[in-house]
Amino acid sequence: MNRFDYQRADDAAQAVGLAAAAMRTGPAHVRFLAGGTNLVDLMKEDVERPRTLIDINHVPLRAIEELPNGGIRLGALATNAETADHPLVRARYPVLSSAILSGATRQLRNAATDGGNLNQRTRCCYFYDTATPCNKRDPGSGCGALGGFTRMHAILGASAHCVATNPSDMAVALAVLDARVRVLGPHGERKIFLDDYYRLPGNEPWRDTTLFPAELVTAIDLPAEDFSAHYTYLKLRDRLSYAFALVSVAVVMARDGAGRCTEVRVALGGVAHKPWRVPEAEALLCGSVPDRALFGQVAARLLEGAVGLGDNDFKIELGRRAIVRALEQAASGRPQSHTDKRIA
Ligand SMILES: Cc1cc2nc3c(=O)[nH]c(=O)nc-3n(C[C@H](O)[C@H](O)[C@H](O)COP(=O)(O)OP(=O)(O)OC[C@H]3O[C@@H](n4cnc5c(N)ncnc54)[C@H](O)[C@@H]3O)c2cc1C
Ligand code: SF4
Repeated sequence: MNRFDYQRADDAAQAVGLAAAAMRTGPAHVRFLAGGTNLVDLMKEDVERPRTLIDINHVPLRAIEELPNGGIRLGALATNAETADHPLVRARYPVLSSAILSGATRQLRNAATDGGNLNQRTRCCYFYDTATPCNKRDPGSGCGALGGFTRMHAILGASAHCVATNPSDMAVALAVLDARVRVLGPHGERKIFLDDYYRLPGNEPWRDTTLFPAELVTAIDLPAEDFSAHYTYLKLRDRLSYAFALVSVAVVMARDGAGRCTEVRVALGGVAHKPWRVPEAEALLCGSVPDRALFGQVAARLLEGAVGLGDNDFKIELGRRAIVRALEQAASGRPQSHTDKRIA
């Protein structure tokens, strides 16, 4: 039995204050508790041992609202289900609804929050297996995946210390929407571009994000843009539900009257420690009428430098094909559909 302090916050400032105070009194390991669908599992498996748990479920951050500039703000405690089902999200940012609905199950999405989804930990099986070394779980202990089973692991941006991937589907869609993550910390508020929110493992694989200690995600802002005509979220996995991506591709695209691409954004999931974007690859399509040959060039540029670890070598070819297919889906206006099968 691992003992921990349980505290409950009623507003965001109080949550941050409680976290900062717990850190001041010693080398406490503090975690915010949202839906608990990842954190509680990690605690049960003895992977995470927070000494202080700050329950944020009573913090009023559940609203999904339109901003004066025409964008949308997703409260950090809005559930994944509420977000995917919200009429504004479905109408203006269908790539986000599609990505969320491709993940987990209805029951999990009812409990999982947007802030928790962004901050969920990797699904590397060695991270969960406390009998094996893992630099992310236990800094300096080594990496059990290197030389181990690597089917789910990274082909891009990995380091000699960690080859884990980011498991979030939502984050891949947020990457192409150029979302901003709003955070509140002991020194005030700041906004972080989604691309800067996640980091590559480098020498510090235990740090998944650029959040500072005691910082709380309060909301996610989506800019006022309309990519509802040309988008897709294509997720390839071992089972059709209840499975994390081997490779996923989010695409949003805008086309002019002559069919030329005026804007293209592509992000890959399941291949790196963060959603993978390469602006130079996207630029290859801008100003052109898209075709399969160009899509192939985009795929090659996105996957430049990809390295397999043996078990996951297939991800390079799978990724190439998935990018081409996703670009075709987005360009033709026929997105991959992720249906939400409700139990009547
Ligand atoms: C069986 C299963 C299948 C799944 N399949 C998928 C899938 O296919 N795709 C996918 O994307 N996800 C999948 N998930 C993951 C699921 O989406 C996450 O567990 C969930 O989104 C986490 O949200 P939560 O609110 O429960 O977070 P919690 O478990 O409460 O917290 C997770 C982490 O985020 C931190 N945190 C929470 N809120 C904040 C905040 N506001 N600010 C700062 N830090 C915060 C916590 O401290 C903790 O470290 C699956 C989960 C399970 C159990
Ligand atoms: S890949 Fe990363 S998370 Fe997995 S065992 Fe290695 S260090 Fe740990």
